[in-house]
Amino acid sequence: MMLQVKDLAKHYVLGEGLSSLFGLSQSQTIRAVDGINLSVQPGEVLGLVGESGCGKSTLARLLVGLEEPSEGEISFGGEDMARLRQKDRRAFHRQVQMVFQDPYGSLNPQHTILEIVSRPLIYQKTGLDKAGLRERAIEALSEAELLPAERYLSKFPHELSGGQRQRVCIARALVLKPDLIVADEPISMLDVSIKWGIVRLLKRLVEKRKIGLIYITHDLSSVPAVCDKLAIMYLGRIVESGPCREVFANPEHPYTQALLAATPNPNPDIVRERPIISGAIPSAANIPSGCRFHPRCPVAEPICTTDFPQSRGKGYHRTECHLAVHGKQELAAD
Ligand code: ADP
Ligand code: MG
Repeated sequence: MMLQVKDLAKHYVLGEGLSSLFGLSQSQTIRAVDGINLSVQPGEVLGLVGESGCGKSTLARLLVGLEEPSEGEISFGGEDMARLRQKDRRAFHRQVQMVFQDPYGSLNPQHTILEIVSRPLIYQKTGLDKAGLRERAIEALSEAELLPAERYLSKFPHELSGGQRQRVCIARALVLKPDLIVADEPISMLDVSIKWGIVRLLKRLVEKRKIGLIYITHDLSSVPAVCDKLAIMYLGRIVESGPCREVFANPEHPYTQALLAATPNPNPDIVRERPIISGAIPSAANIPSGCRFHPRCPVAEPICTTDFPQSRGKGYHRTECHLAVHGKQELAAD
């Protein structure tokens, strides 16, 4: 098992200092990530899907070590990540890389593509000379399918298209030959016409290099083309997870059903007649009791306001929905 995440949480406490200063009692806890379990194997793609604000980027930052968890564990290659990072920060960053949503914002406009892509090698103190850095940059750019790579080396980010810039970001992530890449909405800011090229590139890289990939998106339509496993996130938790094909064919959680119903279906033979949810995602500072989806759920039962079945531990199941786990009749009899 390459990556294993257990009961991971990130809670932001806001206004603690100020409110005590002014004698106010209101400090606010934002439960951005609130008890996540997941795993990724080499050569496997886990899709992480949920509406804006559900905690995807916070989870991504935790996984690549940009933030410290409030609770829970992340282990990498069997080793606790906190310990791994303490022991050898550089080695950790060599193994885990991130691709960001915004290829414009994440590239320094004053650096050439060669400087951008070879920078991680310098940070890692690989000891490569100029020719060596150039060679590795060319290799990474070629893998990101910017061809011929030599032609891009002296260019600046503004000279490239959005898709080419995102390929540069991917090359920068690849240059250290990582084991895991976390891609946070890598195509959401790109034109429709080039999105698929980037998605297929990521998939090919995973297969060829046996990299683990966490593919984060708010849009389910690109998921079947890339993902082996799928995790549906809602207000800081994974409410349903399983093999991608199974979740698509038979979504169990009403939230997953609603997300799928709102997604254009590439296969017109499957007609989805599923509830469309109303209202907006509640604030992570004010998470509903019980099943956190119950205020928006079209099939919620009284028990859903107080309790939800955890999708881990004894008697593993795919969702955190009472109806899916126990069935309607059993609930009525309770
Ligand atoms: P997503 O990427 O799914 O849109 P985020 O992880 O960005 O979601 O945010 C999840 C929740 O956590 C949101 O309510 C957001 O406002 C809050 N949040 C994210 N980062 C911080 C932070 N540094 N401080 C306080 N709240 C945060
Ligand atoms: Mg985000």
